[in-house]
Amino acid sequence: MSIQQVRLHSVRLRYHEPFRIATSTSLESHNIIVRITTDSGIVGIGEASPSKRVTHETPKTVTEVLDKITPKLIGMSPLRIEQIIEMMDKRVLENPSAKAAIDIALHDILGKTANTPLFKLIGGFRKTVMTDLTLGIKKPEEMAEDALRAVRRGFKALKVKVGVDPEEDFERILRIRRAVGSNTIIRIDANQGWTVDQAIKTLERLGRFNIELAEQPVAADDIEGLAEVRKNSTIPVMADESVHSPEDALALIRQDAVDLINIKLMKSGGIHKAKKIAAIAEAAGVPCMIGCMGESTVGISAGVQLAAAIKNVKYADLDSDILISDKLVLEGGAELEASQRIPPEKPGLGVTKLDEKILGETVKTYE
Ligand SMILES: [Mg+2]
Repeated sequence: MSIQQVRLHSVRLRYHEPFRIATSTSLESHNIIVRITTDSGIVGIGEASPSKRVTHETPKTVTEVLDKITPKLIGMSPLRIEQIIEMMDKRVLENPSAKAAIDIALHDILGKTANTPLFKLIGGFRKTVMTDLTLGIKKPEEMAEDALRAVRRGFKALKVKVGVDPEEDFERILRIRRAVGSNTIIRIDANQGWTVDQAIKTLERLGRFNIELAEQPVAADDIEGLAEVRKNSTIPVMADESVHSPEDALALIRQDAVDLINIKLMKSGGIHKAKKIAAIAEAAGVPCMIGCMGESTVGISAGVQLAAAIKNVKYADLDSDILISDKLVLEGGAELEASQRIPPEKPGLGVTKLDEKILGETVKTYE
């Protein structure tokens, strides 16, 4: 079996409402969809959801990078994933979301070739994955209302964005905890918004609200600072922006800088390297989360398949397609039942029908 054709699509997906975090506000997610067709007629789907802030990529750089990589894919076996990743890394440094789009499509082909849901092929540890729902930054009282609404929808865990102003962040958590009571899991994510000193003091004050974990309290490149926060915090500290690659994960673990790691396919370059990060972390006793950027249900389905497959993935934040109002996937893909994401009993990612109107014209075809 060999790769015969690769098609790229550019899609703009609007959020239900402006989504604000410590470092940015988004109205839409502009993603690149990749469709790889084999000579046996199998079509694998992948997605890049680039982040300028995190991986220094834009839709434009993703298409430029894919323009360098994709011609080399034609004629290669789609099942030789490690070989293809080696080829991509040799041709282009970094640019992980562009590479993730290819990696995800290859894993979809892998599952379809085996006529098996992907998660069953790559580990098959669990059948459903509990996701949190993310609450973007608003005024504390508005976030308390959003929190209550999420719990009423059936979500058992909330990921609360903070990292703006420590005093107001404290108020946010106080009001949310009061609104939802003690049974809802609360995670917080400062998206690098605090200084080391602010992080230590704020996490100490938040200790009484039973916070499950605190994500990326300080700047991504301040590993010493992260270690310092961790040493002084009773709340487990999770690295997100600090960890893109398996090498990053190893470096942070060696510096005792993390309790937990948030893996995202858009940072790791896809499923193959995400598994390597999870394995390194497992050996060090560091549980992982699978998170997301602004993926549609295509990319989210890949995240759900991975999270279901791997034992050391103890947390999931796979909710971007819930926050997006434009539904690219019309049939199939990861389901949502209350707080659970469920990989469908279909081959590969299980995405069976896309909205061709949202997908639009093919931007580029390679064959
Ligand atoms: Mg994060």
